[in-house]
Amino acid sequence: MKKIQAIRGMNDILPNETPVWQYLESTVQRVVQAYAYQEIRFPVLEQTQLFKRSIGEVTDIVEKEMYSFDDRNGENLSLRPEGTACCVRAADEHGLLYNQQQRLWYKGPMFRYERPQKGRYRQFHQIGVEAFGMTGPDIDVELILLTARLWQELGLQPHVRLELNNIGTAADRRQFGEALMTFLQKHEDELDADSKRRLQSNPLRILDSKVPSTQALLVDAPVLSDFVSADTVEHFEQLTQMLRDANIDFIVNPKLVRGLDYYNNMVFEWITDALGAQGTVCAGGRYDGLVEQLGGRATPGVGFAMGVERLVLMLEELNTVPTTVKQQVDVFVAIGSGLTGQAMALAESIRTAMPALRIQCHCGGGKLSNQLKRAFNSGASIALVLESELGSAAGAINDIKIRHLGEDARNETVSINELVSKLQALFPNA
Ligand code: ATP
Ligand code: MG
Repeated sequence: MKKIQAIRGMNDILPNETPVWQYLESTVQRVVQAYAYQEIRFPVLEQTQLFKRSIGEVTDIVEKEMYSFDDRNGENLSLRPEGTACCVRAADEHGLLYNQQQRLWYKGPMFRYERPQKGRYRQFHQIGVEAFGMTGPDIDVELILLTARLWQELGLQPHVRLELNNIGTAADRRQFGEALMTFLQKHEDELDADSKRRLQSNPLRILDSKVPSTQALLVDAPVLSDFVSADTVEHFEQLTQMLRDANIDFIVNPKLVRGLDYYNNMVFEWITDALGAQGTVCAGGRYDGLVEQLGGRATPGVGFAMGVERLVLMLEELNTVPTTVKQQVDVFVAIGSGLTGQAMALAESIRTAMPALRIQCHCGGGKLSNQLKRAFNSGASIALVLESELGSAAGAINDIKIRHLGEDARNETVSINELVSKLQALFPNA
């Protein structure tokens, strides 16, 4: 029979990979908590309308990347392609937004029907952070400082750069869009097919075009920075000054526009050269109109999302994960015949005394020499060898052999009463 396989672009994350994921997730969790952000969780399915109204009808995500379907009741639903819209929906629905300040974060899978390649998948994971009720730019700086601290903690700081842009208000972009359209209409024959289609619907997306001939045309096109209104310019100047004060390096990239319509004012990306084409590991910005656009009362917002797969790839490729992260077992218990019950009881008492120690008991019996081979393969740093002693009553354990599994392949023997204090000395953090 033909075996059923996973869906293209949707990955299994295997036990040899999960330690790096856990390391990343727990580091992020520690950092966001250090800034007093609170976790929010929402479903993976939402009404399709939520994403159309927020991300925008004429965006790649809504036009061609969503997994949408009618449920048995005829309602059109979509697997979430991103988290900000869901977060706004959930927070507003439960009265967390109006006249309040909220600092929220979330993590989980997102779904986009894209062409799978390194760093780009159809199910991928984001960790997102959103702040509501603050007009900034101080809160914008806080979010950037949080990300900078995270790169520092993960050892990725030398490998990422921060790019910023002011994309103005929605009205600024409409005016700019008209000017851009007028300019591009004069060159319509020279545009690629995708850009021709976008000319009427969303001319700003043409700036993103990867087609060289289209990019060449754009050299003389109007630029967004000439259209952004004065208050967004002031916001952006204050923001960049605060970043300088905080010693955060950045580049202003006037071509940086995001693929989601709800952004306004300040947008940013953290980019790496370590991953090839899929270099953006974290992206976000302000979305002051979004809550109102989704039917809530006007509430300013700012946030970002990072791509977990891309960060994991970076951690793996740059080899910045502490070696201890991949070690999943500390102590392996090898058990002589007839001693299983006592060995398990002993392991339980160690777990009670040392809750953070990771103990693997051998199951399935067999020769001690074979068990010790498994002990080596487990990655444990020591094996406890339990065998009944010659001369003592069958089944009694008084002394335990400690076999060191590292380079110093020593053996030592401790009495059962001293075992826990011996282990505490060997594993002071457990
Ligand atoms: P890109 O330009 O790489 O397509 P994007 O602008 O579509 O990214 P956002 O929607 O802002 O990305 O999502 C934030 C982050 O989520 C990205 O910077 C990236 O790290 C990650 N991400 C987005 N799409 C994917 C995907 N299909 N597979 C893996 N990670 C992704
Ligand atoms: Mg994309």
